[in-house]
Amino acid sequence: MATNSCDVVVIGLGPGGEAVATELAKAGLSVVAVDERLVGGECPYFGCIPSKMIIRASDVLEEGRRIPEFAGESDVRPDWSEVADRIRDEATDDWNDQVAVDRLVDAGATFVRGHGRIIGPRTVQVGDDTYEASKGVVLNPGTSPSAPPIDGLADTPYWTNREILRVESVPGSLAVIGGGPIGAELAQGMSRFGVRVTVIEVGERILGPEEPESSKLVADVFAHEGIQVLTGVTISSVSYDDGRFRIVLDGQEIDAEKLLVAAGRRANLTDLGLETVGLDPAAHSLEVDERMRAGEGLWALGDVVGHGAFTHVSMYQSAILVRDILGQDGPTADYRALPHVTFTDPEVGSVGMTEKQARDAGLNVRVGLTDLASSTRGWIAKGQGLIKLVEDADRGVLVGATAAGPSGGEILGMLTTAVHAEVPTDTLKSMIYAYPTFHRAVESALKDLS
Ligand SMILES: Cc1cc2nc3c(=O)[nH]c(=O)nc-3n(C[C@H](O)[C@H](O)[C@H](O)COP(=O)(O)OP(=O)(O)OC[C@H]3O[C@@H](n4cnc5c(N)ncnc54)[C@H](O)[C@@H]3O)c2cc1C
Repeated sequence: MATNSCDVVVIGLGPGGEAVATELAKAGLSVVAVDERLVGGECPYFGCIPSKMIIRASDVLEEGRRIPEFAGESDVRPDWSEVADRIRDEATDDWNDQVAVDRLVDAGATFVRGHGRIIGPRTVQVGDDTYEASKGVVLNPGTSPSAPPIDGLADTPYWTNREILRVESVPGSLAVIGGGPIGAELAQGMSRFGVRVTVIEVGERILGPEEPESSKLVADVFAHEGIQVLTGVTISSVSYDDGRFRIVLDGQEIDAEKLLVAAGRRANLTDLGLETVGLDPAAHSLEVDERMRAGEGLWALGDVVGHGAFTHVSMYQSAILVRDILGQDGPTADYRALPHVTFTDPEVGSVGMTEKQARDAGLNVRVGLTDLASSTRGWIAKGQGLIKLVEDADRGVLVGATAAGPSGGEILGMLTTAVHAEVPTDTLKSMIYAYPTFHRAVESALKDLS
C-alpha cells in the first residue's frame, strides 16, 4: 500500500482521456493515467475503427455486385477472413494496447492498469495504491453495452459490439435488437457478407433520432437488400436452444443463429466512488459546465457527460479540459453544430437540430429538401440520398442539416461550417457549387427553403 503524489489522475483512457493524459504530460504536469481495460477505449478496439473496416469491406462487395449495372459482369464471393484478419492485425493488434501504452509513457505520463475509484476530493485508489492529485481528477470512464430487460435475454449467449467485432466467421443468420447507428451499420455490414439479417426496433423507425426522411431512405435500402426490418414491435422474450435464438415478438417469432443486442449503452459510473465527492453514482450522466468541470478539482468528458457518444465529442472536450487545467484561454464547449455520421450505405450525416427539434424549440422554421438522385451526380452514380436543411427563418441561418447518400458524411462538412459559423443562407445561396458534385445538391435544397 503506497500513497503517491501527482498533479492529475485520469481515470479511464478512452480517446478523450488518453488525449488529456498525453497533453497534460507533454505540458510538464505529473500525470497518472489509469485504465482497467485497453488504452484508447471502445473506439479503436470495439467501436468506430473495426466497425468501419467491416463497412468498408461490405461496401466494396456491394460495388462489386453493382458492376452489371455499369460495367459488365461480376461474380462476388465474400470472404470474412479478410475482414477478421484486418481487424485483428491492423486495427487492434489482437486487442493489445502496448503501442498506445508506450505512446502515453513516452509523452511522460505514468500508466497504471487497474480499476480507479475516487475515495475523496482529489484522491484516487487503484488496487492497494492511493494517488493524491494536487490539481484534481479527470473522469473518462465511457460506457458499456447494456441490454434491455427482456424476459430470458440475460440467460442467452447474445453478442454485443464487443463480441461481434471479434468474430472469425459470420453466422448464417443474425437478429439485431436495436435499429440505432450501431445496429444499422453492423446489420448492413453482415448482410452484405451473405448473412440473413433481421433488425428489430421497438421504436417507430430505425435511426430514430435522425430526420424521418433519413430513416425511410435507409429502411427502403435495407428492404431492397433483403434485410428484414421490424419496427414498433414489443419483444416479449428471448431464448436460446440447440444453437438457435428464438425472439418472440407481438405476433411472430424470429429464429436466428446469432443475436446482436445494440440497444443502448450504460455509463460506467456506478463503481467510481462518486458518492465520496457528493455526486450520484446512479445518475445516467455526469453534469459538467462548459469547461468540463464536474466539481472542485474534478473534470469529466466523453460519453458519460451526455453531449453525444462520439469520439469526436470526446476529443473536442479533451482540448477544452486541458486548457482549463493549464489555465489557458480558449473557446468553451458549444454543441450547436455537433455533427455525427451513421456509416450505413447510404451514409447519413447530420448536424445541429432536426426539423422537429427546431420547431419544438419555438423557432420560425423553414425547411429545404432535395432528392440526391435528381442531382446530376446522383443520377450519374445511380445513388440514393437527400439533403435536408433546417433554417431559423428569423435569423436567416441554418440550425440543422442532413446529408444522406454517397459521401453524406463528407458533404456534411460544409453544412457543419454553415451551422457552426452561422453563415447567412443568403451567403450560402450566392456561392458557386462545383458541377457535377454531390454537394451541389445543397444548392437545390437552399432554393427549396420555404
Ligand atoms: C460499435 C460502435 C461503433 C462506434 N462508431 C463510432 C463512430 O463511427 N464515430 C464516433 O465518433 N463514435 C463511434 N462510437 C462511439 C465511440 O466509440 C465513443 O464515443 C468513444 O469511444 C468515446 O468514448 P469515451 O471517451 O467516453 O470512453 P470509452 O471509449 O468508452 O473508454 C472508456 C475507458 O475507461 C475505462 N474505464 C472505465 N471505468 C474505469 C475505471 N473505474 N477505472 C479504470 N478504467 C476505467 C474503460 O476500460 C475504457 O478503456 C462507436 C461505438 C461503438 C460501440
